[in-house]
Amino acid sequence: MIAIKPHHFIDIVTAVGQGQTAFEPHPYGHAVHTVAAAVLADLDTVLCLELGADDICRPCSHCLDGVCDDRIDTSYRPQAPSLKREWNLLIDRRWCERLGVEPGQRLTARSFCRLLRARAGDITDIYREIPADRTAQRQARLAAGVAALLGEDVGGAAGR
Ligand code: SF4
Repeated sequence: MIAIKPHHFIDIVTAVGQGQTAFEPHPYGHAVHTVAAAVLADLDTVLCLELGADDICRPCSHCLDGVCDDRIDTSYRPQAPSLKREWNLLIDRRWCERLGVEPGQRLTARSFCRLLRARAGDITDIYREIPADRTAQRQARLAAGVAALLGEDVGGAAGR
């Protein structure tokens, strides 16, 4: 089982929609490359939704005693909180509300993709601090990533 913030999983799916098939280690030392590899190798991997430090954060150089000390680039989103942990929490709570999921909930990566397909809708409001053109690009990539991961599996009910 993989503990993961909703937006971390969604970022992986979005990267897949951008054509990314392999993830390289990041200078921060976080585990997005290993978590992404595990999820992409088996969509039946069980995820446990986490709004604090997750399995991607744990080895990160910015994860200090379970708390992210990193900051975000606010140059193009001046109304966003500058602390990454606050920004992440804001986005993750919006995603939880949109998808009808909650922290501690367990579901497979496949079920998460089905939820995204069924319930993501227009994500402009989730990323309301970000210019709409950037979010439109994110939306297209997310949809492409979901379609790529689910492949022929287009008939399943969300959350199954
Ligand atoms: S959220 Fe913070 S601690 Fe987690 S991976 Fe990103 S920078 Fe590292």
